[in-house]
Amino acid sequence: MKRFVQFIAGAICPECKSKDTIAINPSDDVIYCVKCDFTEKRPEAKDLKKKSEIKVVNLQDFKKNRDKN
Ligand SMILES: [Zn+2]
Repeated sequence: MKRFVQFIAGAICPECKSKDTIAINPSDDVIYCVKCDFTEKRPEAKDLKKKSEIKVVNLQDFKKNRDKN
């Protein structure tokens, strides 16, 4: 099963300070970090970056690329 995750381009996690790790759960507007346990329930994601800058990434490809480094 393929899972699609919306990442916020250029967003920095307030918890682990990593860039491009903040993703949005589109069903309930929860934003979360894929690197640490940070989650935030408020729909602030829309304010972090313009919606046009949100890129849709295949989570499995993302992990594959991450493991290469
Ligand atoms: Zn984080």
